[in-house]
Amino acid sequence: MAARQPASKGGDDALLIDALLAELGYDTPRARARAREVLHNAGLTRPGKQGIASSKRQRVELALSAAIIRVCGKKCEALARKSDARAPVIVAGATCELCAGSNNRRAALECARVMQENGVTRLLVLGGAPGVWHELTATLEPLGITIEIVDGTKRSHSQREAMQKMMRAQLMIVWGSTELRHAISSLYTEETPAGLRKITVARRSVEALCNAIIQSYTQAPGRRA
Ligand SMILES: [Zn+2]
Repeated sequence: MAARQPASKGGDDALLIDALLAELGYDTPRARARAREVLHNAGLTRPGKQGIASSKRQRVELALSAAIIRVCGKKCEALARKSDARAPVIVAGATCELCAGSNNRRAALECARVMQENGVTRLLVLGGAPGVWHELTATLEPLGITIEIVDGTKRSHSQREAMQKMMRAQLMIVWGSTELRHAISSLYTEETPAGLRKITVARRSVEALCNAIIQSYTQAPGRRA
């Protein structure tokens, strides 16, 4: 549906409101109804109107982004309620302002929040592969988490170097199902500093790693692996 109305409609109501809202990411009837309320309250349109002046487009976008945050479901809605003063409105997925429909990004957002709630910002990751390392750092580092990665395929390093890495970290992930040579993993798993929390992750996606961290900090004590 094109946002522009036929010229014969005349006046300056050149944009169809529903089409404009769909274009701006309000991709369900409910989300559009909520967005319309915001526009009514801002005095940009009134109930029942179909068209709006194209000169109001920028003000429409500003009014919406000030009042509403688009989220894709319960997880992103809960994140928004904790981190954003704007009212969450459910959309179909890809136009979610938090995760853009990505499971990895959604899990990373929640993971960073849980880590920060627990005062944990320094992560050490043993194993994994370049693709997931890139995705992991690209999603978690902008959220305030620093990540040090130990390549499990490289030649072994000294116990002293391993200890220094562990002393810098607050949380260590042993990424089990990825390529991780015993000569490397043993440097980290045989002698671990007392204050360093260690989590073993069996599956290799960013989502699995983030969910394992979330569970470790949110599940009842005593059930911890
Ligand atoms: Zn989302």
